Amino acid sequence: MPAIPADCLGQSRCEYACYDTQALCHFLTNEYQDELHRPAFPYKFKFKFDACPNCCVASIARSDMSFIGTWKDNIRIDQDAVNKYVENDAAYPANAGAHKGRDWGPFDLEKEVLALCPTKCMKFENKKLAIDDANCTRCMHCINVMPRALKIGKETGCSILCGAKAPILDGAQMGSLLVPFIEVNADNDYEAITEIIENIWDWWMEEAKNRERLGELIMRQGFQKLLEVTGIKAIPQHVSYPRTNPYIFWKEDEVPGGWDRDVDEYRKHHLR
Ligand code: SF4
Ligand code: SF4
Repeated sequence: MPAIPADCLGQSRCEYACYDTQALCHFLTNEYQDELHRPAFPYKFKFKFDACPNCCVASIARSDMSFIGTWKDNIRIDQDAVNKYVENDAAYPANAGAHKGRDWGPFDLEKEVLALCPTKCMKFENKKLAIDDANCTRCMHCINVMPRALKIGKETGCSILCGAKAPILDGAQMGSLLVPFIEVNADNDYEAITEIIENIWDWWMEEAKNRERLGELIMRQGFQKLLEVTGIKAIPQHVSYPRTNPYIFWKEDEVPGGWDRDVDEYRKHHLR
């Protein structure tokens, strides 16, 4: 089955674009011509590219490897423009006027933005909007609602997610975050990205059963195995619900001093 690429229009037209999706899609399509036409794969393998987390191409749900634009510095805030939204200035319609056909009532910053921020990392006091960027998940909600006041950061790149698929076996699956941030650098032929792709392919071609998608192999052998084959260290962003359930499975050789010492230490401090 072939590799199938698709991308959003990205920097060619969209102000939210964090990297050039079309350039990366074009490069990988050329780079992997053999894999497109004469694949030695167990099953199909799709790349899809969204230039920001709005995910217009829905790459997170529709591809074995999804490249979603993001940024690592802070959201840029224009405080004057924030206040124009708050004052319901007609030149600053919420959601860029996308819902103009219906009267939604006056814009309410608290209800429509702050309360809907998934990590509740925003506050508005004394006419000043503050964002705790370390806790922002770059979901785009606030930027979509107030595009004249908030902009994506300047240090842009993409996140890489793996393993989405339709519900043929084991139900539908969204992609799991593998790389939270990587620079998208055309000058060195996207070397860091192709290295990750080829490490994953080596594992998948070796281990997958006939017609087993990458997502199913990850389910069968574990996300930990994916980290091992790509040489990526486990970090909190790999945990599904790090704020409520920070459980991580450690192997013995990953714990300095081995199990025994750490269990003793744990007991000493926590199980009195
Ligand atoms: S995914 Fe983001 S950058 Fe791409 S078209 Fe949609 S909003 Fe624009
Ligand atoms: S992008 Fe999302 S998570 Fe970040 S501040 Fe805005 S609403 Fe909150």
